[in-house]
Amino acid sequence: MEVPIPDPQQPVTPTSQGHMDRHRQNDWGSVQYDSRFDEYWIVAGSARQCLFYCPWCGEKLPPSQRNAWFEKVETLGFDPWGDTLPEAFRSEAWRTTSVT
Ligand SMILES: [Zn+2]
Repeated sequence: MEVPIPDPQQPVTPTSQGHMDRHRQNDWGSVQYDSRFDEYWIVAGSARQCLFYCPWCGEKLPPSQRNAWFEKVETLGFDPWGDTLPEAFRSEAWRTTSVT
């Protein structure tokens, strides 16, 4: 899945790289992790190419939470492209804590 849209809100640097924590060969950041969306991706020109399987071990990666992120932001009445969002939406916190 190619995602040409720009990111409306820059993510905070995650404390965990998720699945990539298992792979020290990823130390140079070949595979990027966006904790907001639980997405793994590589640079593809000016876009992101999402990964569905781990390139190191072949394990299936978790499904993207991108659509859920947008739905949640909009449900709370924010404009994801313009508004300053609560800190929780710049990390995985929105999925793991209750944000009102
Ligand atoms: Zn793996």
